[in-house]
Amino acid sequence: MICKKCCKKAIIEYPYPMCDQHFRDYYLRTIQKTIEKYNMFNKEDKILVAVSGGKDSSALVYALYELGYEFEGLYINLEIPNYSEHSENAVKELFKLIDYRINIIRVSDYNIRVSPIYKRPICSVCGAIKRYLMNRFAYENGFTVLATAHNLVDEAAFFLMNMNSGQIQYLIKQEPVLPKENKFVKKVKPLYFITERENMVYSVINKLPVYYGECPNSSGNPQSKWKQILYKIESENPGFIRNFINSMLKLKKYINYPEKKGEIFCCKYCGYPTGSRSRICSFCRLQKYFNNSKKA
Ligand code: SF4
Ligand code: ZN
Ligand code: ZN
Repeated sequence: MICKKCCKKAIIEYPYPMCDQHFRDYYLRTIQKTIEKYNMFNKEDKILVAVSGGKDSSALVYALYELGYEFEGLYINLEIPNYSEHSENAVKELFKLIDYRINIIRVSDYNIRVSPIYKRPICSVCGAIKRYLMNRFAYENGFTVLATAHNLVDEAAFFLMNMNSGQIQYLIKQEPVLPKENKFVKKVKPLYFITERENMVYSVINKLPVYYGECPNSSGNPQSKWKQILYKIESENPGFIRNFINSMLKLKKYINYPEKKGEIFCCKYCGYPTGSRSRICSFCRLQKYFNNSKKA
């Protein structure tokens, strides 16, 4: 297969055949266009990029670096055996390569553990911990924007999950940008229109230090099932996932979300916003649980 723009060998087929150089141009151009279209940030913003050591966030870091943005990284060590130590090493190598600052925090610093609690699955606990710590770190350190590496396939899988569970109120959060509100820092997803495969190819052609191993808990992640379904449809209909997201974004404009959002309270322990009437946010509830189980 030959690149559509030159006569070199193509390394990727979709959205059109591209050689490594033309793929790199396409990849960076798509990200820059997304940043500009959704007014995600500019060079004056103090940007924090959440990283995991995997291909998506490593590709995001390197792309923003190539596009000339200044930022710092945040790595949350989840202390998951046979996983976190490898991903932390990959993150450290990546930030050494670009010579940018990486901030590393550990869940045990907050007296917390990533483990299933009552009937709550481990990935749900892990997601709540990560969301809370990313926001808190960004807020307390004066960052104006928090960038995450959610990609096109993540977003499509979330759409399907929310449609399946009937929780369409969560669709409101499925935007490339969530504005700053209260103690929630502005959140942006520059890879919103980039596929996992494109992140992989970009990481490989740039020889990025990526940890390709999977979290040992990933088989229990409900998102994986929906991704497999999406890939099955994509294999028979190339371009489906991208078209699906574009259609969903158009469709979302016609949804009338309730004008009054649920009441927001201030957590009596940490002071961060919570929707819980008990005025204890889910992070502090987890902390309490682990403190009590230590005493028991
Ligand atoms: Fe956390 Fe689950 Fe992802 Fe592992 S697979 S990092 S436990 S969300
Ligand atoms: Zn080419
Ligand atoms: Zn709290």
